[in-house]
Amino acid sequence: MEKTLTYKPQNAWETYADAPQRKSMEALAVRYIDFLTRCKTERETVDYVRERLIQAGYGEDFAGERVLRPLRGKALFAARRGSRPLEEGLTLIAAHADTPRLDFKQRPLIEQPGVAQAKTHYYGGIRKYQWLARPLALHGVVIRENGESLTVNIGEKPDEPVFCIADLLPHLAQKQSGQTISEAFEAEKLNIILSHSPKQGKGGKKDKDAPKEPIKEQLLDILHKKYGISEEDLITAELQAVPAGPARFVGFDKALVGGYGQDDRICVFTALEALLTAEAGQGNMAVIFWDKEEIGSDGATGAASRFFQYCVEDLARSWAPGVPASHVLLHSRALSADVQAALDPDFQEVHEKQNAAQLGCGPCFSKFTGSRGKYGASEADAEFFGQLRGLYNAKGIPWQTAELGKVDLGGGGTVALFLAAYGMRVIDLGPAVLSMHSPFELASVADLHATLEAYKAFLEA
Ligand code: MN
Ligand code: MN
Repeated sequence: MEKTLTYKPQNAWETYADAPQRKSMEALAVRYIDFLTRCKTERETVDYVRERLIQAGYGEDFAGERVLRPLRGKALFAARRGSRPLEEGLTLIAAHADTPRLDFKQRPLIEQPGVAQAKTHYYGGIRKYQWLARPLALHGVVIRENGESLTVNIGEKPDEPVFCIADLLPHLAQKQSGQTISEAFEAEKLNIILSHSPKQGKGGKKDKDAPKEPIKEQLLDILHKKYGISEEDLITAELQAVPAGPARFVGFDKALVGGYGQDDRICVFTALEALLTAEAGQGNMAVIFWDKEEIGSDGATGAASRFFQYCVEDLARSWAPGVPASHVLLHSRALSADVQAALDPDFQEVHEKQNAAQLGCGPCFSKFTGSRGKYGASEADAEFFGQLRGLYNAKGIPWQTAELGKVDLGGGGTVALFLAAYGMRVIDLGPAVLSMHSPFELASVADLHATLEAYKAFLEA
């Protein structure tokens, strides 16, 4: 393409305009929709990734050329050896597998008039009203006293029941409609309806044995009969309420994908595909998928933990004895693969349009994240950014650049700073999404394809 002096981001639909490209884009989107439909929690995502890697010959022995290491089923590191020495660093893509949701409290069950409910504690940044009056599915694990694990996944198949938080009817919402959003929607009212029918008493006029909380007791009977679990078992469970139902194409042209958890599973999916399909190259490729990003990356399976460092230490011992892991880390190059907020057609005023991400213009670089005066951010250096720009221009891969909203209006972070802490070069690159953190996020099919191309080109470079 002829270079002009002015800059304008390229539209990925124009880049990928010919019929075979469009066909392979749609095929990729179909596989992505299946992945989104099946993987709604970090555990399910890590299981999926692990299975795909094992099928591709990855093993847990770091002496191998293709290695993987999961942590507690919630985070995963994988690496693929290249011909260049590990001393030159890793080419790494990092994404996160956790998503905003409603977690069951440890003692969740309550009975209120007419229903038994589960009390919840929300995880990550949600707009609470989006979770009312919509079908929810339950995903997670229940760990029994003897250590046995029961996997839970209810509400996804068409013949299975779903669960729901009731919302206030408009007729009685007059007072609420004058309140601020944070006053109107209280976290302690996010109670999920689990059942409705009461347990029958034994009969008689004065039934001393009549259950005190008949609906809750009936529910416990059902849970015991069906799954062999008691109320105490729920204390040692991780149960997540997530939007029920499949991801879908959106629009007459099927050019968008709608679904839950695209932040950041679109990056997990494309980074995994990139690792699996990249041409065997010279560089040593790696991916890491973390948990806990949505709540600040703390915890054993989050980016602030030492897990990644330990993996690189073991990799160095095995692939490059004598080379300190610190050297490998310092010389690595990384993409922090996370989504960017797309310019919202109906809320354009929160964006500074020239530096906002456009749906359909390819993956988006964020040179820095954070808020206010770039607080809480790591910032990529211009040299690294420049190299990547050159790489993508040479390969004809569309890309763009953005900040998260207007300066001083908000902000947000990614895992980039945890990698930057090692001194490695790192920049954020990921597709734009609309309705981020909602039960039904939107991403462009063209961006999905362009992001895969960009991650692949980075790993191969
Ligand atoms: Mn994210
Ligand atoms: Mn997020």
